[in-house]
Formats: sequence, C-alpha cells, structure tokens
Amino acid sequence: MPFLLIFIVVMVLLNLFSSQIIATLKGAIGEAVVSKMLKKLPEDEYIVIDNIMLSTEKGTTQIDHVVLSIYGIFVLEVKNYKGWIIGTDRTRQWTQNIYGKKYKFLNPIWQNYGHVKTLENLLDIPETDFIPMVIFSVNADLKVKTDNLVLYTANFRKKILEFKTIKFTRSDIDLFKTKIDHANIDSKEKRKEHVKQIKQNVQKDKERVKSGNCPKCRGNLVERNGKYGSFTGCSNFPSCRYTVR
Ligand SMILES: [Zn+2]
Repeated sequence: MPFLLIFIVVMVLLNLFSSQIIATLKGAIGEAVVSKMLKKLPEDEYIVIDNIMLSTEKGTTQIDHVVLSIYGIFVLEVKNYKGWIIGTDRTRQWTQNIYGKKYKFLNPIWQNYGHVKTLENLLDIPETDFIPMVIFSVNADLKVKTDNLVLYTANFRKKILEFKTIKFTRSDIDLFKTKIDHANIDSKEKRKEHVKQIKQNVQKDKERVKSGNCPKCRGNLVERNGKYGSFTGCSNFPSCRYTVR
C-alpha cells in the first residue's frame, strides 16, 4: 500500500504547512494591529521605529518596536500567542497552555530586557530611561504574576500616554532616532548609505584608472595585446588580473 502511505504523508505535511501559514498570518495581523495603534500616537511627541535589527556581541537582535519620546524610550515586544500564558518575573521560561497542551517559551520580559541593554549601549543612557513593555494579543489569556508591564494590545497605547515625567529634550530624541537608524541593519538609511558607499568606490576607481593606476593593486595600467586585440590591463599581470572595460 505505498500509495496510501504517500497520501497520508502528503496530507500530514499539508496540514502542518497550512497551520504554519495560519500562525504566520495571525502573527502578521497582531503585528499590524500594534503598528496601527502606534501610528495613532501624537506625531509631534512620539517617534515610532518598527522592526529594528541591531548587532550585538552574540550576533544580531530584533526589536519589534521602539517609541522615542521626551518621557522615555518605550521598548515593545509583541507576542501573538493564544491560550493561557503562565509565568512570573523570575522564571526563565513561561508556559503557553492550549487546551491542556503545554509549550515553553523564553520569558518575554527577560528577552525584552536584552533589547533594553542593547539600546542602553547604543544610546548611552541609563536603564531607568527605558520603559519595556510586553504586549499580548486578545487571543491570549494572561495568567502572569509580574511587576513589569505585560499588557494586552488594547491597553498598551493608553499606558504609553500615562508617562508624563520629562526625561529628554526634543533634540535628544532626534539624536536617538539618528543613532538607531544608523545602527539598524535593516533601515532604509543604512541601505542608502551602503549604495552611496558603493557609488563613491566606483568613482574613486574611475579616477585611478584615468591617472593610469590600477584600482586593485595600485600598479600601472599598460596597453597589452590579447587574443581579441589590444586592451588596457595591469602591469602586475598575472598576479593582478585587472583590465579596463
Ligand atoms: Zn593591478
């Protein structure tokens, strides 16, 4: 019965695949809800930066949202988990319980604390100027014992607006924004900078060639004869294979 076996395997794979798609979609929707609510913050007081990728000593770290304001730096970790969410401030792992099925995941408060530490280094300001928040969608039923800000999607914006003690000037905030954009591996600014760098290098190479120097090894460019006629190449051939195209 190999056909039946193949059929079963295909059905199981399809099922796994579609549940993965649904999970991804739900995650994207939950994420979109938070993004939309963040856009409603008064623009003159709050600068929102979504999806930041920063390098750390261990590699990279991804931060869902950072909200810069004169009242502090809000660092948001968004979780789109359903079921009961059980945990405390001190436990390394939290539990997601869906109809009796239990799944462990890293304490999101600890995870977000790592984000704060990375930003603390980058912006050179104390931990006390950061306000970390963990946000769960309505699909979750929070059974969490915590002194930290672990909130539902519906409540986090109101919570952000409650902070009114002034900690920074407007120009501090603009500086933080610039620093994050520059460090953000994924940002438009970083990509622009990269493209600009490449263009500058191309320009430098052209200038070197004009003055008769090889841009690869700084040797002299000479006229040489090849299979298909004469061409300009590096005098250090064959150790340098640069040719002018
Ligand atoms: Zn050369």
